[in-house]
Amino acid sequence: MLTATALLAAQLKDGASVTVRVTGSGPLGAIVATGEPNGDVRGYVRNPHVDLPLRADGKLDVGGAVGLPGFLHVTRDLGLGHPYTGSVPLVSGEIGDDLTAFLARSDQTPAVVALGVLVGPGGGVRAAGGFVLQLLPGYEERWAERLEANIQHLGGISRRIEAGMTPEEMVWQGLAGFSPHILDRQPVRFRCQCTRERVERALVSLGPGELAAMLREDGGAEVRCQFCGRTYRLDGADLARLHQESLGGRQEA
Ligand SMILES: [Zn+2]
Repeated sequence: MLTATALLAAQLKDGASVTVRVTGSGPLGAIVATGEPNGDVRGYVRNPHVDLPLRADGKLDVGGAVGLPGFLHVTRDLGLGHPYTGSVPLVSGEIGDDLTAFLARSDQTPAVVALGVLVGPGGGVRAAGGFVLQLLPGYEERWAERLEANIQHLGGISRRIEAGMTPEEMVWQGLAGFSPHILDRQPVRFRCQCTRERVERALVSLGPGELAAMLREDGGAEVRCQFCGRTYRLDGADLARLHQESLGGRQEA
């Protein structure tokens, strides 16, 4: 999901962002990822502790964990105040297949999406990566055939990534026979945007009633960022201050 989101975000202009949500009916629950064109991505799954048997082909059963029926939603916020969301029903719950379906149906672009993750014995991700190959309007049928052959030749992307295949090598092999030019290089990283200030603003937005109840019942609050897992602790004095702020906000309003 993070790879897919980084690839979609790379097509946007500065100041824009993309959010991808997969809402299946499997044990994983919703998956959410957001990305920006500068390569920053973050994401989370609702229930991260899902343990399913491997598929017959030895791969992780992502489709089973996501579960059909469900939807893939892509929200592009171009920074102009009107985010646009496109949705498609899930095809398989395998993120690459579903994103391919999305690009074909919602964006009306024939595309190939290849995403791979290689998970180590301890459950940690050893390698992840992928590519999106899109045919632009006016393409010739023989180009599509050529690309299809290239992709067949590429094979499973997870193993290629584990073996150390670079993004450039993916381009050379995926576009073999075309003379590709590399236009830009962009590092990617998992980076959360949560700050104490944002957490406090979110609490203030709950309103004075909710904050008073928290103060009375718990004497403080603990807020955990669902994207990065960081925990923010607020004591009674913090809550009292935010309570005052929310009262002030209400009066001004
Ligand atoms: Zn965070």
